[in-house]
Amino acid sequence: MTNHILQKIDAHIEQNRAYWQGQLARLCAQPSVSAQNWGIDECAQLVATMLREQGYTAEVLPSDGYPVVVGEGGAGEKTLLFYLHYDVQPPDPLDLWESDPFTLTERDGVLYARGVSDDKGHIICRLAALAAVKEAMGELPCRVKFIIEGEEEIGSPNMPAFVEQHQELLAADACIWEFGGVDYDGRPRQALGMRGICYVELSVQSLSRDAHSGLGGSIFPNAAWRLTWALSTLKDQYERILIPGFYENVLPPSPRDLELLSRLPEEVDELKEMYGVQEFLLGLEGGLPLQRTAVFEPTCTICGLTAGYQGVGSKTVLPARASAKVDFRLVPNQTPQEVLSKLRAHLDGLGFQDVQIQFLGGGRPAKVDPDDPFVQIANETAVDVYGRDPIIEPIIGGSGPNYPFIHTLGLPLVSAGVGYPGSNVHAPNENMTIENFLQGTKHTARIIERFGR
Ligand SMILES: [Zn+2]
Repeated sequence: MTNHILQKIDAHIEQNRAYWQGQLARLCAQPSVSAQNWGIDECAQLVATMLREQGYTAEVLPSDGYPVVVGEGGAGEKTLLFYLHYDVQPPDPLDLWESDPFTLTERDGVLYARGVSDDKGHIICRLAALAAVKEAMGELPCRVKFIIEGEEEIGSPNMPAFVEQHQELLAADACIWEFGGVDYDGRPRQALGMRGICYVELSVQSLSRDAHSGLGGSIFPNAAWRLTWALSTLKDQYERILIPGFYENVLPPSPRDLELLSRLPEEVDELKEMYGVQEFLLGLEGGLPLQRTAVFEPTCTICGLTAGYQGVGSKTVLPARASAKVDFRLVPNQTPQEVLSKLRAHLDGLGFQDVQIQFLGGGRPAKVDPDDPFVQIANETAVDVYGRDPIIEPIIGGSGPNYPFIHTLGLPLVSAGVGYPGSNVHAPNENMTIENFLQGTKHTARIIERFGR
């Protein structure tokens, strides 16, 4: 019975590939660049239209930022929620694209366009999977809901509040996250958590205007020195963050987390080659110590530093202003608000009241229990499609708005999808292979089928 249904599901996905490719072309043709508010409203409306065309109800709801598309369909005791996003990164630099970023183009079994993987390919993957399950089973085996936001690429600033305000509308039993796919080796990946983030700009304005360094060098405060002195108090050369109380809420990884980390494939040589890194920090060479440090340690990263004259030759100037962008990656159970207030207290305590802190965005860390039954469903169905055990990452280094879904709605989240390391997401020539599309869609369909049983 089940085998027969799975065969029908796979056949439906393969036979309707051209149709879904057409739908993907339609969605990718609508620019939706959240960083520039380019095509956002139009894309939200298009996504709602496409949901309705597939038989779901759909509404475009306001948030404190860009609109959120919510939709619903199917029936049953259990409800599966799909979190996705319709916004994309800017297509720049345009001259590095081999074909127009908003025209879906197929070359050698690979589809190219901005958003083709992140995240419009995943929107189509979910719709194609649902259509195949519906066709094979006569009806969907569960209720399904969609939440498709338009601010993921700018840090989902309004997702926590939106989820908080629409808990009933979004109530579900489990959630399939917006991404997923395979690693370098074609092995499926299951990412169960994400670090949080606290992103700030630190700035110093020491004078009303730049001064001649011969005039002011001995008697005027220098913004660049003030800022670099302040920055140097944040972290020592052993990578220890020196803000008092910074580590007080850090939960160490559980024995189960460490067991999963120890099974991750070693990517030391790939990383060294790709980034030209000679040696890792703290003398780390690989294995569990490297895997653990990479994702279970919070960070303080100077992302950018600006002051004074940096052009050709010399300019004897004393800069009036200096600024730095700094991100802190957070691990359970740290919060961005806590980091912000501890950072302020730390700077004040050392006499750096002149260093201004501007909060540019943040989100809390969150992870799902690796032994949740829904995670087991995602893992077992991955084996069925990819023929290999998935790599299970208890938490990944990056950040996303998973906290309100895990903690406010109380859902287990799994990843499944069409991505691979060569997808060029956020870069020119973003792409998705047709093979990855078919596999990610078959995997998603199997999760829906098993969840609904
Ligand atoms: Zn993205």
